[in-house]
Amino acid sequence: MTNAPQPDFPALTSAANAAAEKAYARYSRFQVGAALLLSNGEVVTGGNVENASYGLTICAERSALVRAVALYGPQIRVAAVVVVNLQHSPSPPCGACRQVLAEFMAPDAPIAFPAEIDGQLQQVITTFGHVLPYTFLFTPPQ
Ligand code: ZN
Repeated sequence: MTNAPQPDFPALTSAANAAAEKAYARYSRFQVGAALLLSNGEVVTGGNVENASYGLTICAERSALVRAVALYGPQIRVAAVVVVNLQHSPSPPCGACRQVLAEFMAPDAPIAFPAEIDGQLQQVITTFGHVLPYTFLFTPPQ
């Protein structure tokens, strides 16, 4: 991604924290926020939105992505992602979010999230391809 906007990780982290503050996490009390830097330079955020059924809960990453598509259309690309939570716990993107982000994100795009490494909570910054190798992608027939 040579033309991708460069991520300002402190600013994205601040935006993700603001989204986490607004999360609807009445069941787990685990408030997560995500900030997406889009290829057009805009930043779109989302927080997790839980549901009494649990299974209908949507994560912060997908919440932000759905919002980005609603705002900017289906051609939008994600240049970088930052995920945070307010509980000072690990919160790497779940498998569902990784797969959904894969539709919009290049393998070399950066993604940051809190993870436990050697017993220490750290903000990991890596590439999307590192967190989701062997992405399932489907090209519909013409
Ligand atoms: Zn998720």
